[in-house]
Amino acid sequence: METYHSIVTLESSVQNLIHQAMNATKGSYCPYSHFSVGAALMTETGLIILGANVENASYGLTICAERSALFQAFNRREYDLKRIAITARKWLAQDAYEETTKATAPCGACRQVLHEAASVNGKPIEVILTSSDFQEIIVTNTAELLPSGFGSEDLGVQDYIDSMYRNSLHV
Ligand SMILES: [Zn+2]
Repeated sequence: METYHSIVTLESSVQNLIHQAMNATKGSYCPYSHFSVGAALMTETGLIILGANVENASYGLTICAERSALFQAFNRREYDLKRIAITARKWLAQDAYEETTKATAPCGACRQVLHEAASVNGKPIEVILTSSDFQEIIVTNTAELLPSGFGSEDLGVQDYIDSMYRNSLHV
């Protein structure tokens, strides 16, 4: 896990992904928390898929930005996921935001779903957590975020996943 305090020290494709995550916050539906979260997922081939949190009056049915992006990727049969950038900012009014100064970490549910995606991928997915003022950028990965995670290996279906869901089968 590495922490950076400036976006310009990162490689350009990572910078771009962070900007895409920032852009994705505009798709957030957050009338309850006013906390708009954006995620930008990049596949090994460079395809970028965006997600944002979508809240619900029942609260519990809210879905996070990370899962919103990941489920879209799976719907498109994109399983070779390289990295995901996540950021959040406080939504004040139409196109008005208060920037966050601390990186926002994925919730436990999203860590579990990221762990699943990494097991299909066959290796950890890089995770970039950033404050929306870009003063705190944490570079980590799915293995660090969920050590000893429960997954397909525990249910004995890793071979099945490997044979059915690797992108190499779908090119
Ligand atoms: Zn979450």
